[in-house]
Amino acid sequence: MPKILERLTEKKARDLKVLKDFVHIFCRQNHRTESGEPFALKDERLRQALGGKELMLCHECSRLLNHGMAKLLLCPYDPKPMCKKCTTHCYAPGYRERIREVMRFSGLYLIKHGRLDLIMHYLF
Ligand SMILES: [Zn+2]
Repeated sequence: MPKILERLTEKKARDLKVLKDFVHIFCRQNHRTESGEPFALKDERLRQALGGKELMLCHECSRLLNHGMAKLLLCPYDPKPMCKKCTTHCYAPGYRERIREVMRFSGLYLIKHGRLDLIMHYLF
């Protein structure tokens, strides 16, 4: 996705990182990520934006994260509204339900574990 990377602003990089964290928590807690595969990030800028660390995700969650990242990068709004308040439903059917489940689960997980700093960036 080199072309849409031109839209990678600092704000979007932050949002991408939150998205990644949420999918990662969800996968780790629900899908035994240890037996998964490293999430492939070929683009170095994107890798850096996401913290530069290797990320283990199961196949399904990798696909979901890929989809979400592409949508985030392509989001035409600036500043991006919270997804749940947005009238443009850019996620493909199926992915949309899944990402909502991920956000709900990981949001609760973070609250339970006192990670309010991450919740502050809870944008979805
Ligand atoms: Zn998973």
